[in-house]
Amino acid sequence: MSEKHLKFNSKTIHGGQHPDKAYGAVMPPIYQTSTYAQTTPGGHQGYEYSRSANPTRTALENSLASIENGTYGLAFASGLAAMDAVIKLLSPGDEVISTNDLYGGSYRLFKKIFEKFGITFHFIGMQDPGVVEKYINPKTKLIWIETPTNPMMNIIDIKKIAALSKKHGLLLAVDSTFATPYLQQPLDLGADIVMHSATKYLGGHSDVVVGALVVKEKDLADRLYFIQNASGAVCGPMDSFLVLRGIKTLHVRMQRHCENGKAIAEYLRQHPKIEKVYWPGFADHPNHMVAKQQMKGFGGMISFITKGSNYEDAIKIVEKLKLFTLAESLGGVESLAGHPASMTHASIPKEEREKSGVVDALIRLSVGIEDVTDLIADLEQAIA
Ligand SMILES: *Cc1c(COP(=O)(O)O)cnc(C)c1O
Repeated sequence: MSEKHLKFNSKTIHGGQHPDKAYGAVMPPIYQTSTYAQTTPGGHQGYEYSRSANPTRTALENSLASIENGTYGLAFASGLAAMDAVIKLLSPGDEVISTNDLYGGSYRLFKKIFEKFGITFHFIGMQDPGVVEKYINPKTKLIWIETPTNPMMNIIDIKKIAALSKKHGLLLAVDSTFATPYLQQPLDLGADIVMHSATKYLGGHSDVVVGALVVKEKDLADRLYFIQNASGAVCGPMDSFLVLRGIKTLHVRMQRHCENGKAIAEYLRQHPKIEKVYWPGFADHPNHMVAKQQMKGFGGMISFITKGSNYEDAIKIVEKLKLFTLAESLGGVESLAGHPASMTHASIPKEEREKSGVVDALIRLSVGIEDVTDLIADLEQAIA
């Protein structure tokens, strides 16, 4: 692709894109069609049936590949559908090593769906990459990491895990949803697959559910394209268009998410009623140095606990917030607050959850791009 030389802030707008061939439309048209006319059997213009490929989805897939410094992008009906395709690269008997502190739905997919098919998952803390090697055996095929982790904001050293993965001939997949390619590019750090819930920052407007994979190697891309077409959880043309539109402003949104995130993390930390704030930008965050190395900024995701609080207190605070909407999800322009124990992480058993720090009192914020003084005033009244 000719735009490889472009800077990230230009790739979000131009990466993999060119005016439409038919009328020169600057934005890719929404090709709301299931099928394509053929002149003779097999005589088509690259598109036969929209599960296999659709021009609007292709435009999104090319954009995804460009912004992740990859070669091939694949767009799915949801983030979990994208993950589902990755696990389908495996066979019964294979083993996966995964971060223990991960999105609740990812845990559910691994544990409740794929374990039934004879795939074994080891959920471990990976902040110390040395621990990972102990779990590698001849059956291990894939390492799955999420960084920053949800909702504890732990940071995992992608480069170190990639070296380990290469040494043992494994695949390394990174769920980079929280960071976005604006903050970190896992393929450049040695990962084989980068995955996104494009529902979050890439779409950025809380109006769509989409998943993405990006890879560099052709062979791996071919295997994933085969699964995408054979299993069929593809991203529709309208949704592809919405994510493409979101990506065009990713860099400006992320810049503001980072600025507001920093201001709110610092506000919470100095607040007398706050017990603990989880945000990788603090110099005393246990993985701050790794975050500084592999990320361009620290993002707008923050978790915190108020002093002496329990399940009921946390619920009271999230209910009192007015500008922060109490809702699942993250990464939109509007600020959201959530209670992981009863919402995003309710599908993880309490003991498992608490082992990784997701206690009942924990509150998670997705800091939006509103005026930060309004956001702080809202937190102030809710915490009071
Ligand atoms: C939301 C999310 C997912 C799942 O994506 P969907 O688009 O909801 O299927 C996976 N990983 C992370 C980190 C998420 O936040």
